[in-house]
Amino acid sequence: MSRADDTQELTFDAVLIGAGVMSATLGTFLKELDPQMSIGIFERLEQAAEESSAALNNAGTGHSGFCELNYTPEKPDGTIETSAAVKINESFEISKQFGSYQIKQGVIKDPSSFVVNVPT
Ligand SMILES: Cc1cc2nc3c(=O)[nH]c(=O)nc-3n(C[C@H](O)[C@H](O)[C@H](O)COP(=O)(O)OP(=O)(O)OC[C@H]3O[C@@H](n4cnc5c(N)ncnc54)[C@H](O)[C@@H]3O)c2cc1C
Repeated sequence: MSRADDTQELTFDAVLIGAGVMSATLGTFLKELDPQMSIGIFERLEQAAEESSAALNNAGTGHSGFCELNYTPEKPDGTIETSAAVKINESFEISKQFGSYQIKQGVIKDPSSFVVNVPT
């Protein structure tokens, strides 16, 4: 992450505020759609991903949709509503496909350095 001083005038095609996972994801999608696009990401903290996106703050249970009880509430008749869990898991699977695509494209060089399967 480079720093901009107060006197520097910067021009970007897109500006993303905050260097969390949402800006990282949106920035990645924008670059995929238009590799020439210039993107400025502005973060108020010293490092990227220090707030909600910090690894310590993420159990990972919600990402797949499998282990969050609030995604599978019990209905008045005693059956379990699963539609939210299924929808979230479908999105998770698509995100993994996008990750695989990025590995094939060489965007992600060493997936084992940050993607680790753990038992749930
Ligand atoms: C304890 C905890 C556990 C979680 N567990 C899970 C989980 O298991 N599964 C799951 O899917 N999700 C989980 N989440 C939710 C997930 O972490 C968040 O939805 C996600 O990280 C949000 O990403 P973000 O980029 O929107 O926000 P953030 O990661 O918070 O990034 C926002 C960034 O914007 C910066 N910023 C704010 N204002 C400004 C400004 N004015 N100028 C410049 N920078 C600014 C902040 O400093 C921060 O770095 C958890 C969250 C928490 C807190």
